[in-house]
Amino acid sequence: MSRTLIQHTLWVIDAGARDFRYKTIPDAVRILNTVFFPNCLGDVGTNFTIDAAIAQQATGTITPGAFDAVVFLVRDVTQSLPVTKLSQTLTPTTVTNSKVLGNTWLGLAGGDLAEVFWDRVYSNQEAANSIFHEAAHLKSGQGDAMHTATVGAPHGGPGLKVLAAQGGGVINPSGDDFDFYMKAITSRITLRTKIP
Ligand SMILES: [Zn+2]
Repeated sequence: MSRTLIQHTLWVIDAGARDFRYKTIPDAVRILNTVFFPNCLGDVGTNFTIDAAIAQQATGTITPGAFDAVVFLVRDVTQSLPVTKLSQTLTPTTVTNSKVLGNTWLGLAGGDLAEVFWDRVYSNQEAANSIFHEAAHLKSGQGDAMHTATVGAPHGGPGLKVLAAQGGGVINPSGDDFDFYMKAITSRITLRTKIP
């Protein structure tokens, strides 16, 4: 049996974020493409090989591939897309705790939705971490359970860092973060193609 070769794109859609001198979407995407995704290539289990993995900023409507992910950047928590567009309600903790840098809505009609609260991230690194973190929730379909997931081979590393709770603020991703994300890439999910 042959392996399925996967090209993964993490689409980053600006849904009202503001660039600052110290924090821009292109800079965050560049970190994803230099620090994160070069480490997300290779075999996953016996059936899949991640052949390519990149982050790409997008506007308008995207045409995602079967194994892609989409994260929306909203200006702040009050501009959450499911709240403003889809009649959903955030938990009080998400609204008030400034350490919550994003949220992923699982089980929404029309597809799950991952978003990052741009004004809450303080640097390009935090932005990249938060985008990666929410994309992992989206692709794995796991809520808080993801934060304490254990990841074995091949690294058997020090545990999740960026993908742990409040991992958006942690500087360095771990091998386990990459292993978890690579496995999550192999899941096919319904992807949103534009801002709702
Ligand atoms: Zn999380």
